Amino acid sequence: MTGYRSDVPENWFVDPVNLGVPGVRRAEPDEESTLSWQTDALCSQTDPEAFFPEKGGSTRDAKRICSSCDVRGECLEYALNNDERFGIWGGLSERERRKLKRSAG
Ligand code: SF4
Repeated sequence: MTGYRSDVPENWFVDPVNLGVPGVRRAEPDEESTLSWQTDALCSQTDPEAFFPEKGGSTRDAKRICSSCDVRGECLEYALNNDERFGIWGGLSERERRKLKRSAG
């Protein structure tokens, strides 16, 4: 009996990456990503004390900084979701956030 085997599949060399390799999964979004906005927090480049004024202290400086912050929306949402009690978040004081929550039902 001579000749070559003819039953070798033509695609035996197919790239395993294209076929999908067990154990290699797409990265899942990690929990840290919920805080990723903090990288762009403008207040982290300024005086954090302005954001936690003494009782009755001025919140004007902090609010001014918030008003030009890129992540103001994320920041406010985070504060509302986490019931942050103290300080200025997303341009709103503690009292203003409480008011907002009440009006949002
Ligand atoms: S909105 Fe204000 S408190 Fe929030 S990250 Fe920006 S500067 Fe900081």
